[in-house]
Amino acid sequence: MRALIITDMQNDFLPPKGALPVPHSEEIVQPILDLIHQEEQQDFHRIVLVRDWHTRNHTSFARSHDLPEYSQFEYKSPRPGDKSTQVGTLWPVHCVQNTWGSQLVTPLLKETYHTHLKIVDKGFLSDREYYSGFSDIWNFHKTELHEYLQKHHITEVLVVGLALDYCVKATAISAAQLGYDTTIVKSLSRAIHDDDEHMKQFEKDLADNNVKLVENVPPHKSESTTTTTTTV
Ligand SMILES: [Zn+2]
Repeated sequence: MRALIITDMQNDFLPPKGALPVPHSEEIVQPILDLIHQEEQQDFHRIVLVRDWHTRNHTSFARSHDLPEYSQFEYKSPRPGDKSTQVGTLWPVHCVQNTWGSQLVTPLLKETYHTHLKIVDKGFLSDREYYSGFSDIWNFHKTELHEYLQKHHITEVLVVGLALDYCVKATAISAAQLGYDTTIVKSLSRAIHDDDEHMKQFEKDLADNNVKLVENVPPHKSESTTTTTTTV
């Protein structure tokens, strides 16, 4: 069974008014909407909209540390006694729960009545950064995404949305590590940094983690064409 995972298509990630706009992200809104409308042809058993869903004082905000936006910061593990650290970027305040910025972009918001569509939130624990739709960066706190996909017998996921080099990448790598057949559709995503050097590293990271990267939505391998073996 195949699922579509749409990551972080929220007002704050879109120019011109978003707090953390991903360049050219407005270009993918209509194509993603079109893909949702092709649900049957594409045989999406489930569609998930992942939302970045932060508290006002979230640790990934530069303001929470009185440091400049986009500076690097060494996060300490939120687990008591754990001495591990991770370096990450501090962002402008974005996607604060129940504000305009965290709202899904209007055309997608209108789709949320759909019974096969689920919203999954990440980023709501203040003391830790999240990129993946499945867990925080420490892989301690798990969102409900894996459980939801398992409940619906999903084995294959397509990941689209924002931003290609952060949350789409992290969500896809988590999915592959959890055993899903995972593909990122590049034409339905946009990156924060898309220079050659970044993209080369990005492609290597995906290949190292068994994530496929394709330009356009691949045709669905129909369940009926898979070989059935008769057991005697
Ligand atoms: Zn965030």
